[in-house]
Amino acid sequence: MQSQHIERIVIVGGGTAGWIAAASMARLLGPSVNITLIESEAIGTVGVGEATIPQIRRLNGVLGLDENEFVKETSGTFKLGIEFNNWGHVGESYLHTFGDAGINLASLHFHHYWLRSQSEDPATSLWDYSLHHKAAYANKFGRLDRVGNTSMTGLAYAFHFDAGLYARYLRKHAESNGATRIEGKVVDVDLDAETGHIKSVSLEDGQVVTGDLFIDCSGFRGLLIGQALGVDYQDWSKWLPCDSAVAVGCESTQPLLPYTKATAHDAGWQWRIPLQHRTGNGHVFCEQFISEERATETLLANLDGAPMGDPKRLRFTTGRREKFWHKNCVSLGLASGFLEPLESTSIHLIQSNVSKLIELFPDKTFDAANEREYNRQVSHEYELIRDFLILHYHRTDREDSEFWRYCKHMSVPESLTEKMKLFASNGLLYKDAEDLFRESSWVQVMVGQGLVPKSFHAMANRVSSDQLSNFLGDVRKLIDRATNDLPQHQDFIDAHCKADLQ
Ligand SMILES: Cc1cc2nc3c(=O)[nH]c(=O)nc-3n(C[C@H](O)[C@H](O)[C@H](O)COP(=O)(O)OP(=O)(O)OC[C@H]3O[C@@H](n4cnc5c(N)ncnc54)[C@H](O)[C@@H]3O)c2cc1C
Repeated sequence: MQSQHIERIVIVGGGTAGWIAAASMARLLGPSVNITLIESEAIGTVGVGEATIPQIRRLNGVLGLDENEFVKETSGTFKLGIEFNNWGHVGESYLHTFGDAGINLASLHFHHYWLRSQSEDPATSLWDYSLHHKAAYANKFGRLDRVGNTSMTGLAYAFHFDAGLYARYLRKHAESNGATRIEGKVVDVDLDAETGHIKSVSLEDGQVVTGDLFIDCSGFRGLLIGQALGVDYQDWSKWLPCDSAVAVGCESTQPLLPYTKATAHDAGWQWRIPLQHRTGNGHVFCEQFISEERATETLLANLDGAPMGDPKRLRFTTGRREKFWHKNCVSLGLASGFLEPLESTSIHLIQSNVSKLIELFPDKTFDAANEREYNRQVSHEYELIRDFLILHYHRTDREDSEFWRYCKHMSVPESLTEKMKLFASNGLLYKDAEDLFRESSWVQVMVGQGLVPKSFHAMANRVSSDQLSNFLGDVRKLIDRATNDLPQHQDFIDAHCKADLQ
């Protein structure tokens, strides 16, 4: 029997997407597949993408990375969540943490017990029962799997890192596992006249690179999937209207915070990402409601250290490709779609899509069933994240600018409306096994943005008032004790993963 196995994979693009794909495939597929990555230094990368979510630790595991080395090499820091300022209401803040609040009791989610307690003790917030919240605001971090010998989980965490250093670090791993890099600019794509599959790409210097499977990691331009194969783009900007960003680094300040900040402004929001050698900042905005000049002024007026260099302008359209996989081409990263960085999901989508591709790995016959299933799974994943992002804009009391009035009154996907209605009535959550965001994330963002349920689940009444008050008191004591035992974030980094900053 003649082998139909894919032998040559060509990746176009060497940003975060290209190098995650190369490193993962080289490691998982081994030397039987030849992996070539083409990138152009003259074109460069987007270079932002500095905040992540805890799932990145799975990718590190797959790649066999040593976590301390990884943080050191990327000048990284640890992240326990995202602080949202001025979203539901100007002057209000909440932390979307990576952990659960409290402890679930008799399989009922903790927030129902907290809701019940509100009638007697309305001053306590859900976050009074969050270990992540307590640790984050004490600037503490440590690797803690479990709180003592209780059923309370410890700290779930992710990282902030320098995107340029991250690509360089992954490149080293990909090349050590056999991937080959070609420097050059792709100027032409040759399609098979009969099948429409990509046969080869040609570089400016005349080189022709042939392959069986082509991975488009060429960024927003979508060189293969869009320009060569003509796959359309679905525009979601009516729900997520921001279309621009200005980004600039600034000098670090102390203390080193173990969380990202996302601060809403009049027509968008500003991120603050602490790294070891600088702080990353950017203002994501909608040009229909604010000029680039004013957006840049707002960014610079809200830095907490001196800016390093000139602000960089980026433009995008939120949405996704109609198909992520078409014929013998799979798009990843910005070539496949864009969801704004509010919940740091883009790098996760790259890693998750690479792992789906490996699960549904085709052979040279490119059975349409593999392509269909991949496109189904990835579309659904994008839509679930989209709804979660829209929630942040739509569930707001803000009407103080044209932008916020638009967001508050816009119509949103039915799937999100149903989730909000269900939660508003009695704190119940719509569950989808494929949703990246767990119950606890939906609860934190809904409550944090001011959507507090009218009632709670009847099971929360099983315990007496005294039992409830003892239970809540015990949770708080456990959290206080666990936080006291944690080191300062800066001390943890200095002891385990301090970057070599020249
Ligand atoms: C404002 C902003 C903030 C973001 N923040 C975050 C965040 O905090 N967290 C997160 O997870 N994600 C974030 N993202 C998303 C993240 O930046 C991207 O998902 C990630 O960088 C992947 O980009 P990429 O590799 O797809 O594209 P790029 O970085 O654009 O890389 C494209 C590559 O293709 C190459 N290329 C293009 N054309 C050619 C050609 N003709 N020939 C040869 N090579 C070519 C380029 O040289 C480059 O190597 C953010 C994005 C933006 C816009």
